[in-house]
Amino acid sequence: MLVPEKRSGEIVLVCRNCGFVKKHTSQSYKVRQDIGEEKRRKITIVSESEVRSTRRSEEELELMEDYHKATLELMEAESEERPEGSG
Ligand SMILES: [Zn+2]
Repeated sequence: MLVPEKRSGEIVLVCRNCGFVKKHTSQSYKVRQDIGEEKRRKITIVSESEVRSTRRSEEELELMEDYHKATLELMEAESEERPEGSG
């Protein structure tokens, strides 16, 4: 089951069963444009190496996302519309 957890200031969804981690906030996909070119290069290099070391195979990730899709959709719908009263 996916549970929201705060990691380095961001809310992510973590599966208690298999450790699958999904960033929950769609805002986190925003890319900042206001950083200098030099800084941007550094960030790119860092994130590339980071991704490489922690990367699972794309196929595996897709399978995992698919597997959790129902839960992810549910949680996103819940965070957008919060029905009052009923639970
Ligand atoms: Zn899982």
